[in-house]
Amino acid sequence: MPLSASKHIALINAVLTTLLFSIVYIILFLSFFTFKPLPLLVFIPLIFVFAYFISNLLFDQYIKEKLKVIYKTIGLLKPENAPPLLKKRKTDELEIVNSVVLKWSEEKKKEIEELKELAAYRREFLGNISHELKTPIFNIQGYVLTLLDGGLDDKLVNEKFLQKTEKSINRMIALVEELEEIAKLESGELVLKEEVFNLHDLTREVIDFMEMKAANHNTIIVLHSSMNRSMKARADKKRIRQVIINLIDNAIKYGNQKGGVIRISCYNFHDNYLVEVQDNGIGIPEENIHRVFERFYRTELSRSRDTGGSGLGLAIVKHIIEAHRQTISVRSKEGEGTTFSFTLKMA
Ligand code: ADP
Repeated sequence: MPLSASKHIALINAVLTTLLFSIVYIILFLSFFTFKPLPLLVFIPLIFVFAYFISNLLFDQYIKEKLKVIYKTIGLLKPENAPPLLKKRKTDELEIVNSVVLKWSEEKKKEIEELKELAAYRREFLGNISHELKTPIFNIQGYVLTLLDGGLDDKLVNEKFLQKTEKSINRMIALVEELEEIAKLESGELVLKEEVFNLHDLTREVIDFMEMKAANHNTIIVLHSSMNRSMKARADKKRIRQVIINLIDNAIKYGNQKGGVIRISCYNFHDNYLVEVQDNGIGIPEENIHRVFERFYRTELSRSRDTGGSGLGLAIVKHIIEAHRQTISVRSKEGEGTTFSFTLKMA
């Protein structure tokens, strides 16, 4: 068994003390008397044992006192709090503290990495928010200045600019609402209110609600026959309504302006349903597809459409679906269309 640090030092100390004593004894006796080896043979083991135990005790005390400070610094009040595995494998106090400190420093390193990531995320998040808010704010400023500069009296300009101002304000309100939503979802504050509901009826209701907007974009929404009237899901109905609205809204915004068709279908998929929202719109370039669920991410293709999107809709959708412990995926071909598919628990 390997010796602990204090025992090791005590052993060296005992050997040296015994050696020193023997040399002094021999020199003294050779100088003044005739040398008698018997007392030396009796004293050597006694001195060795005495020196060994005293040194061991003192070193042990000393090391423990010093270690206490280290344990306190790293947040463990006693060496006994060291992970049991370490204690089992290692007898030496110093080896235990070495492993504990190493483990502690690894944990701290991980914590620091996480904090750095969080700080970077916060910076990026704030940058994105201010970027998204800037456009409507500057637009409003422009419209108001034009109105103040005489536009107010110009019948042709005033109503048009007030309408534009309202549009920008609505965009800001939508952004703030989405930000609130995502903050709630990310802080885990959101509690799902699961219930059994008719998926067909909910989808129909959303389609009726969105039909007008679709028509304004030269688009029709079709509920495919695979979604039948008996399909019942168990989920938070309000949130799933929001998911379907966001997906249809995107399908309209990024749809085919020359004649968009949005098809909603639903299939049995083990114990789940697989709901699909398909469009024949601009599609998503292959290199961007893995990023569309990121907050604030927008493809160049969609930016050019100036739909007023903030890039938060799909992040919200993903959070909601994952909060239900379900999955969402996307397949798309640039210029041909996009299909979002998500699963829902069958009731
Ligand atoms: P946005 O407010 O920009 O619509 P989303 O989070 O809903 O934000 O979508 C993120 C990005 O994903 C969009 O800006 C667009 O580039 C792309 N996208 C989402 N849905 C579609 C779709 N049906 N067709 C093409 N691109 C889409």
